[in-house]
Amino acid sequence: MSSSISDRPAILGGQPIRPAGPPGWPRRDESVLAVLQSMADSGDWGRYHGPHVPELMRRLAEFHGVTQALVCCSGTSAVELALRGVGVNPGDEVILAAYDFKSNFQNVLHLGAVPVLIDLDPVTWQMNVSRIEPALTDRTRAIVVSHLHGGVVDVSQVRRIVKSRQIAIVEDACQNPGAIVFGRRAGASGDVGVVSFGGSKLWTAGRGGAVLSSRAEITERIKRHVLRGNDAYPLSEIQAAILRPQVDELDVFNARRRRAVVWLCSQLQAGGGLVPLQLPTDDIDPVYYKLGFRYNGAAFGDLTREQFVEAIRAEGIAMDPGFRSNHLIHASRRFRAGGALDEATKADVTMVTLYHPVLLEEQDALEEIVNAIRKVREFSSELKERSGDSAADS
Ligand SMILES: *Cc1c(COP(=O)(O)O)cnc(C)c1O
Repeated sequence: MSSSISDRPAILGGQPIRPAGPPGWPRRDESVLAVLQSMADSGDWGRYHGPHVPELMRRLAEFHGVTQALVCCSGTSAVELALRGVGVNPGDEVILAAYDFKSNFQNVLHLGAVPVLIDLDPVTWQMNVSRIEPALTDRTRAIVVSHLHGGVVDVSQVRRIVKSRQIAIVEDACQNPGAIVFGRRAGASGDVGVVSFGGSKLWTAGRGGAVLSSRAEITERIKRHVLRGNDAYPLSEIQAAILRPQVDELDVFNARRRRAVVWLCSQLQAGGGLVPLQLPTDDIDPVYYKLGFRYNGAAFGDLTREQFVEAIRAEGIAMDPGFRSNHLIHASRRFRAGGALDEATKADVTMVTLYHPVLLEEQDALEEIVNAIRKVREFSSELKERSGDSAADS
């Protein structure tokens, strides 16, 4: 059987499906350009204080249905401030999923507290809330609930588990701003919520973050921490100004990304091997910053996840292995394991993610992803041999 060069995987010498590579981020946005122009004209970009930061905070609070939003310099600092705001002190315990963004783990350590790592749900690969109760101790002060890779956690279940105990819920919505989970925006169901405006994120100012809460004692504690005659974790006027239109546009873009994901996953279903963590339901409008999949090499001729991702990336598609699980990259004396972590261990080796910018492109771009995956599947035995050869060479 012969095949033309263009049919072969790029990594085997064929033509890449997207020779120019994946689309960049952020996209060109006319409303952001208009803001930049007007700030350049007025000189407002150089001011410490102006109307844009307070206006953004007002709009973020309104968007999430909370009484206050405080902006700060990153999502990472927002998580730190949230933990401080709920009164996490040295020696306290903070429960989080073992498989979580690494700065969440580091933030707990930074406060002198102990991360207590619990496992993932076997289906959604989000925090397994049934593991919270057995992990509670007298020292548990807070639970960090992250929605990751398009999945969501039902925060009301977490609330039922902690009930009357003095344990705060920090809801990390950095990856799913605007998602709706049982009628509430992600970030609005905890005692305090967190969003990020980092450069790769769905609303972006390159850097930045915000803390959301309806509990005044939390926001007051945070203000006391950051206001030292000057704001120690500032977001600038120009950052706030370019974020403001993005808040208004978010729902429209999220809906487009959601439609793209539903179509893409319907196409991928037949071949198997890439199972999405979470699709929309009647009660959940997920939001996709990274679209997470469980990778099963058996559907790709036993290619390892790394071999699969390398071949897909060579086609110009932005797929990556997921991040590492915290229990596997930190010394065991730095945390306490709240039970077995088998699912987090599986996620560590088999999570694959698709980066979001392509989800706003035209239908062709989605078809290219399907074709790239089909091509890699079709040539999996040759790809496997090639990897075997290079392994033997090295
Ligand atoms: C990106 C991210 C953060 C941190 O946000 P930065 O603005 O990059 O510091 C925290 N949690 C999760 C889940 C994230 O994805």
